[in-house]
Amino acid sequence: MRKIIIDVKSLLSFEEPSKRVSFSEKMDPIEFYGDKISFGSNFKAEVEIKRISKGLELTGSGEVKVNLSCSRCLKKTPYLLNFEIDEIFVERKMEEFVSKDSDFFFIEEESIDLYPMLRQLIIVNLPMKFLCREDCKGICPRCGADLNKGDCDCLQSEVDVRWEPLKKLKNI
Ligand SMILES: [Zn+2]
Ligand SMILES: [Zn+2]
Repeated sequence: MRKIIIDVKSLLSFEEPSKRVSFSEKMDPIEFYGDKISFGSNFKAEVEIKRISKGLELTGSGEVKVNLSCSRCLKKTPYLLNFEIDEIFVERKMEEFVSKDSDFFFIEEESIDLYPMLRQLIIVNLPMKFLCREDCKGICPRCGADLNKGDCDCLQSEVDVRWEPLKKLKNI
């Protein structure tokens, strides 16, 4: 996995109370419920890292352009994912003082790796349902044709099947 390493030595030793970092980093595609999510831009974020008793608190915001599959027609469509960052990084020696229920990352060797945090933020913030456009007609469940490009022949033949019994009656 990629790494985005930030040196936090000066914060851990209380030389400075906080520091601001901004970055723009490439993300590798993420597997999500059988879908491979790729990115149309770097992950951009601005984060303030503050020293707290258990370790570090990160707050800020970020954005990344995600290529998502439309829930109806499956077409890959770019989507700008914006989100807030509010995460805790804990020192190993403070692990026992942190609630097991709360979500946190570890500080390793006086630095933190933001990559796993960004991956998790993307997954948590992905929309459950996503449409390429508000009125997407989706694909035909029978032949798989993209109904946005026009009707397929299935609807027509369905009508024919429905009239079949009547046609028979007529013939008698
Ligand atoms: Zn669609
Ligand atoms: Zn069809």
